[in-house]
Amino acid sequence: MHCPFCRNHDTKVVDSRVSDDGLSIRRRRQCPECGRRFSTTETASLMVIKRNGVLEPFSREKVVSGVRKACQGRPVTDTDLAVLAQKVEEAIRATGASQVDANDIGLAILPPLRELDEVAYLRFASVYQSFESLDDFESAITLLRVENGAGSRGAKVAEPLN
Ligand SMILES: [Zn+2]
Repeated sequence: MHCPFCRNHDTKVVDSRVSDDGLSIRRRRQCPECGRRFSTTETASLMVIKRNGVLEPFSREKVVSGVRKACQGRPVTDTDLAVLAQKVEEAIRATGASQVDANDIGLAILPPLRELDEVAYLRFASVYQSFESLDDFESAITLLRVENGAGSRGAKVAEPLN
C-alpha cells in the first residue's frame, strides 16, 4: 500500500480493528519514510442485484426475514436462522462473485433450509421456484422422498428384535 503523503511504496500496519458488524476491517498504517499515519478500510464487497436493477449490499438479516415466514409454526429457532444465513453467505462468497441476483440468493437458501426443515423448505421453494400447481409440490415431495431414501447413511439403525 502506497503512502498517500509521500508515495512511499511500503507502509506498515500499526493497528487493525474489526468493525462492530464484523464486515470490515479498519487498519491504521504508518509510513516508515515520512512517519505519517493514515487509515484504510477493508471490506469484501458482496452486492445483490434486486429485481428492479438496484444494487444493495448483501444482508444476512434480509435472508433471515425472507426465510422466517416459511418457518412459521415450525421448530426452527432464531439461532437456526442465523446459522442458515451464514451458510448462505458463505456459499455465495465461495463462488467468488462480487454481485449476485436476488434470485440466486433464494436458490442458495434452498439446500441449507432443506437440511433445517423440509416443510419450510417446500414453502420457500414454492415461491422461489414458482410452483404453479399441486403437481409441482408433488414432484418436489417425491424428489425429497427419493433422495431421503437413497441417502440413508445418517438414518438410525433399528434395534434388532431378540
Ligand atoms: Zn510517507
